[in-house]
Amino acid sequence: MTATIIATDTFDSLDPATGAVLSSWPVHSAEQVDAVVERAKEAARWWAELGFAGRRTHLTTWKAEIARGLPELARLVHAENGKPFHDAVLEITLAVDHIAWAAKNARRVLGPRRIRSGLLAANQASTLEYPPLGVVGVIGPWNYPVFTPMGSLACALAAGNVVVFKPSEHTPAIGAWLVDAWKRAVPAGPSVLQLLTGAGPTGAALCRAGVDKIAFTGSAATGRKVMAACAEGLVPVLMECGGKDAMIVAEGADVAAAADAALWGAMSNAGQTCIGIERVYVTDSSYDAFVSEITRRAAALEPGDGEGASYGPITMPGQVEIIRRHIADALAAGGRALTGGTIDGPFVTPTVLVDVPETSSAVTEETFGPTVTVTRVSDVQEALRRTNATSYGLAGSVFAASSKAGVEIARRMRTGMTSVNAVLAFASVPGLPFGGVGESGFGRIHGDDGLREFTRAKAITRQRFALPVPLTSFQRPDQVTGQLVRVVRLRHGRG
Ligand code: NAD
Repeated sequence: MTATIIATDTFDSLDPATGAVLSSWPVHSAEQVDAVVERAKEAARWWAELGFAGRRTHLTTWKAEIARGLPELARLVHAENGKPFHDAVLEITLAVDHIAWAAKNARRVLGPRRIRSGLLAANQASTLEYPPLGVVGVIGPWNYPVFTPMGSLACALAAGNVVVFKPSEHTPAIGAWLVDAWKRAVPAGPSVLQLLTGAGPTGAALCRAGVDKIAFTGSAATGRKVMAACAEGLVPVLMECGGKDAMIVAEGADVAAAADAALWGAMSNAGQTCIGIERVYVTDSSYDAFVSEITRRAAALEPGDGEGASYGPITMPGQVEIIRRHIADALAAGGRALTGGTIDGPFVTPTVLVDVPETSSAVTEETFGPTVTVTRVSDVQEALRRTNATSYGLAGSVFAASSKAGVEIARRMRTGMTSVNAVLAFASVPGLPFGGVGESGFGRIHGDDGLREFTRAKAITRQRFALPVPLTSFQRPDQVTGQLVRVVRLRHGRG
């Protein structure tokens, strides 16, 4: 049931629920990757010179093409990734919103702006602008095959870059659908967004094909390989890697709301969410109520492949063994599964684990399955200490008695994103940057920072008039040095 790459030429995309072959795709060789990047370079000038307004028009047409095809794309996401149709619709809805935001805001964020020149350069007019890098390679994962790469695609394109997109080998048809929609929407610039299919070697070839940046989303282990390949050519990288995100339920929080949110964060998309909740730390007074609430709700979930399923199969067959190992580790170390804990083919039952030691792999490693550990803590300090005791730092959630208290706790989480009294909410705000710290990666997609990620800052000064006393000239009079010393002391020498 693995998406096997056959020989050197094609590989199959499989239905994760049944293992049936859905479609076949070429394995692009290094030579083919080079040719695609060359075509991209030719298109780069046209796209950059269109300017913000021209690009916005094309991005808007593409967005509309995706919005019109939403049900078709959602069926494809269901077929290839396995998530229920209604979850696929939600994912695509968010992605469309992100394109709209990037297209609309690119000029505001990246366009030329005046910068105050300051006392020493009072005769200069200073401007800052953010031109595109050129060709951006986007290497995507399979778990949110539309939403996740779209963060990079939309920001990179809106900033004026052309993109070569290699979707995961588990979801090539979804990547191809997005690129085909581009070709229909922007027939004048088909090479602005191009597709490559294949697995690791195709991705590695993209890193070495002369692109100006790689935006990678995937595991930290693969991220290291991507960085090593990019280091050869000093190609900058954006790393969106995994996580082991936690929720903190503080004293006085709405326990029912927290349990509901934790369950969605942990189990939707079969737990295969980079920003999914994998650990919950609950303060003493709320612990029992929280555990009984989340267990009751989890037991009512039904994984499956049908219309009414709560969540679908595990997309990547190899992941099932990791989930099995984490559950077994937790139980062997004295943990208990209050519900779930069983696996039937690619379907994992919703699993709530308690009494799991912090050293267990169920707590320390990314599980990427519909499992969650719930741990009693004495207070918020302990919850934060445990939350932050991980090499990852992607996102998290806090439930607290008041928003103010929640935000204070959120600030002390060592993560790139945190939702207060909600879960995953930041991902639906296109103006907020998305990304992590530590082994969760670096760089940002979405928001102003996401747009800037795909540009270089360009500083320009224009001399308006010559200074009466030239500072940067061999004609500088000797007494200027003494005057400068006096000025600096006057301006900066106090305090
Ligand atoms: P993965 O690391 O196995 O693969 C990711 C991509 O890298 C795929 O397209 C793959 O073909 C490619 N690849 C593999 N080897 C390569 C190499 N040597 N050089 C270049 N490319 C190579 O990850 P996955 O299983 O597809 O995705 C799951 C992981 O992604 C999880 O850890 C999850 O947390 C993470 N993720 C992170 C985010 C985020 O925004 N931070 C979003 C979604 C998923």
